[in-house]
Amino acid sequence: MAHLLEKSKCIGCGACVPQCPMGALDLVDGIAVVDPLKCNDCGKCVNICPTNALSLTSQPTKLKVERDPLSGARFNIKDPLPESVQDYAGGNENKPIGTKATSVEDETIWSGVWVIIEYINGKIAPVSWELLGKGRELADGTECRLSGVIIGHQVDSVIPEAFAYGAEKVYVIDHPVLEDYRTEPYAEAITDLVKKYHPEIVLMGATSMGRDVFPAVATKVKTGLTADCTVLGIDPKTKFLLQTRPAFGGNIMATILCRTSRPQMSTVRPRVMEMPERVEGRVGELIREEFKFNESDFRTKVLEFIPSDSKHAFLDKAEIIVSVGLGIGANRNMALVEELAEVLGATLAGSRGAVESGWITHDQQVGQSGVTVRPKVYIAIGISGAIQHLVGMETSDFIIAINNDPEAPILKVANYGIIGDLFEIVPALSAEFKKRLQHGVAN
Ligand code: FAD
Repeated sequence: MAHLLEKSKCIGCGACVPQCPMGALDLVDGIAVVDPLKCNDCGKCVNICPTNALSLTSQPTKLKVERDPLSGARFNIKDPLPESVQDYAGGNENKPIGTKATSVEDETIWSGVWVIIEYINGKIAPVSWELLGKGRELADGTECRLSGVIIGHQVDSVIPEAFAYGAEKVYVIDHPVLEDYRTEPYAEAITDLVKKYHPEIVLMGATSMGRDVFPAVATKVKTGLTADCTVLGIDPKTKFLLQTRPAFGGNIMATILCRTSRPQMSTVRPRVMEMPERVEGRVGELIREEFKFNESDFRTKVLEFIPSDSKHAFLDKAEIIVSVGLGIGANRNMALVEELAEVLGATLAGSRGAVESGWITHDQQVGQSGVTVRPKVYIAIGISGAIQHLVGMETSDFIIAINNDPEAPILKVANYGIIGDLFEIVPALSAEFKKRLQHGVAN
């Protein structure tokens, strides 16, 4: 608490209340009460008090970073669980997870939603912007600010983009050691920022980089991490981050809470969240931080960067996908789906069944252990729609499923289901599309 009040001296005159620029003082039952979350230690109330009932605390406040007073300190480890989740741990709610955890019970106030913006080899991972879109909702839900974090070398071109996609504040660490991505220096940079500014929620894409660096950061700041989330939300009552992801081989969707440590950290798959609107020229607050390490502090060196030459590297950005499953039966039948993909200018992908059969490669696999896609049109051919496949494609704009089993789960998420033999339907579709597209009619 920033101010101490000697209750016996307070005469309830109320002179201090209008003096406080932060609205931190109130009269309750004739006694002045200080809200420690709002008080900024300015001392105006101390000077005006006629009976010296108020004084500034002699101990320095632990944290002095900017934050919304309504956020961060509201949760309590002893609060009941949000109604939206059930406690399968039954009765464990008061047990600390670990004595060394960054406990929510100490005085540190954690506030703000952060998105780590991934920028490597001159390219920004679009999931960073998708997360700023989702981050806006989470920041509104916790009534705090949304920030982007940019780490790398010569990153200034990324700053206006972060503001354009909705960051109110941008933290930057720009240093030659951070030119190429390596786990150690990136983990140190993010950890330093987290320890200094205490964000309540930190998000990053579940890309190769996010999956690599975030566990290292979570370990360093001694908090939990929910990887590969597909849904994020804020519980309206407790303000906990609700982190939903497939669990037990994708057979259930689990909502996970980080109840006893901060920050709450999640990685989110690309293309799961919607891309927010880009507003050119939007500006915000910029905070540049030093990187206190040297090259000699790190054990790994990047000798060369060899970009992937795979033609399927951009499956997650494809607008039309023709996707094939075990229903195609044999490699020799692949020509049918390849023809349809070619006619439509679509990208060829498939189920894990098709990958395991050797008909397509792993980088073409859609689903939980493959790529998450969000095309305008997804045509599923001979794919049953196992949950592990659905989590990777069900947010596609328009889904067409071709299957001879009317009970196939894929038909439940499809906008159009064509029930019948793919060996008749696919060639007929290719022929019809060929005819129509030749005449410039694509519908
Ligand atoms: P099947 O389930 O065998 O479906 C074939 C479909 O073709 C059937 O619905 C059938 O009715 C239809 N069919 C057959 N003949 C015809 C015909 N002549 N005409 C029309 N339709 C026909 N799977 C993924 O896809 N992606 C993943 O990322 C993934 N990750 C996984 C992770 C884990 C941990 C686990 C345990 C599993 C994962 N799987 C994944 C596997 C998943 O559970 C399914 O086994 C797989 O998706 C099935 O592939 P499929 O739909 O091609 O085959």
